[in-house]
Amino acid sequence: MSKFLIRAMVLPMTEPDVFYPQGEVAVEGDRIVSVGEKGSAPPGFRPDRILDLPDDVVMPGLINTHTHAAMTLLRSYADDLPLMPWLNEKVWPFEDKLTAEDIYWGTALALCEMIRSGTTTMLDMYASMDQVAEAVLHAGTRAVLSRGMIGNGPNGKLALQESLDLVKQYHGAGEGRVLVMFGPHAPYTCSGEYLQLVKAEADRLGVGIHIHVAETLDEIKIIQDQYGKTPVQWLEGLGIFGGHVVAAHCVHLTPEDREILARRQVCVAHNPESNMKLHSGTAPIPELRAEGVVVGLGTDGASSNNNLDLFGEMRSAAFQQKLRVDSTVLPAYEVLEMATVGGARTLGLKDVGMLAPGFKADLITIDLDQPHFYPRFSIPAHLVYVAHAGDVRTVMVDGKLLMEDRKLLTMDVKKVCQEAETRAKRISALFEA
Ligand SMILES: [Zn+2]
Repeated sequence: MSKFLIRAMVLPMTEPDVFYPQGEVAVEGDRIVSVGEKGSAPPGFRPDRILDLPDDVVMPGLINTHTHAAMTLLRSYADDLPLMPWLNEKVWPFEDKLTAEDIYWGTALALCEMIRSGTTTMLDMYASMDQVAEAVLHAGTRAVLSRGMIGNGPNGKLALQESLDLVKQYHGAGEGRVLVMFGPHAPYTCSGEYLQLVKAEADRLGVGIHIHVAETLDEIKIIQDQYGKTPVQWLEGLGIFGGHVVAAHCVHLTPEDREILARRQVCVAHNPESNMKLHSGTAPIPELRAEGVVVGLGTDGASSNNNLDLFGEMRSAAFQQKLRVDSTVLPAYEVLEMATVGGARTLGLKDVGMLAPGFKADLITIDLDQPHFYPRFSIPAHLVYVAHAGDVRTVMVDGKLLMEDRKLLTMDVKKVCQEAETRAKRISALFEA
């Protein structure tokens, strides 16, 4: 079992006022042993390696609570279009041509980008999830995987079977780094009967549900016309809530919807940049948090963002609410909480998201010895309003280094980029002529 001692500024994200300007984090195997001031490691702790990074801040790895990783292959392929033509004429025809192997390489590209930008865990929803799982196992990150299920389409039954297989094969794989949830796509792509079947299977296997909810006004209208209810109230009536549910977006909510989400402990994956780019709207995040809803941050897929950088997402999350409400809402520390502790709670992970003894050693360091980080008044404000992906220096997951001095250790970045380029261009060429 390897032992690390990381000497740096420590922002453990346990409580707003806890910060060690000259601190250290001791790691043994996959767990954190101690967190505190320099010299706080237990007596007799003999590290195999000391990472001496006095100008870095060490903090929990960031958690992306909603993405479609392999959509990196569609990055900047189609932009600046209305939602329905974008989906019908560009995204879905392209996705229709993706092979399982393409999805492996698209996910590998996403994981390279995530590691480089300090993301240690993702909640992914896509197809060919065995390929996604293999890419995650290879990269060394943590992930919760859900097979996206379009219940109303011809593959609804098959997708449910693939979800069951995914649970059997990968739930708990990689020493617990990979977990599985069920991923019924959305209220407008799944019938009530299908959703209830999915819920019954999820309950039987003891896994959660990940679903898009109340993302656009179009969705609100479709569900209102079909069932005379809001999406949240329709799902509540079907009995979908009550267990572990992660609802992505939740942009258009009534006060009653918010009350249901709070009472049923539904967790919300908030994707501000995707919501802005697709003109979906602004989710009522300060209200949800005040009412006790657990909120995590997500990037959504790279085709509606167009990157997977959670630092950018944090800044957008803060600015979007300040524009909507006023400048005092969502202060920097609260935004950091959504990207770390809140993300872990959203995904139901009890021992990640904070630097604390007994927690998993999922951590990142950010190089603050750069002009844009001086003077150092507030580290949380620097991390939310100043930092970007390229500032991350070190990434550790489960006690293993995945990046050191900005060099990825588990991935051949050049090969991944070349594969992604070739595969994406092969598909786009099918639509030219
Ligand atoms: Zn999505």
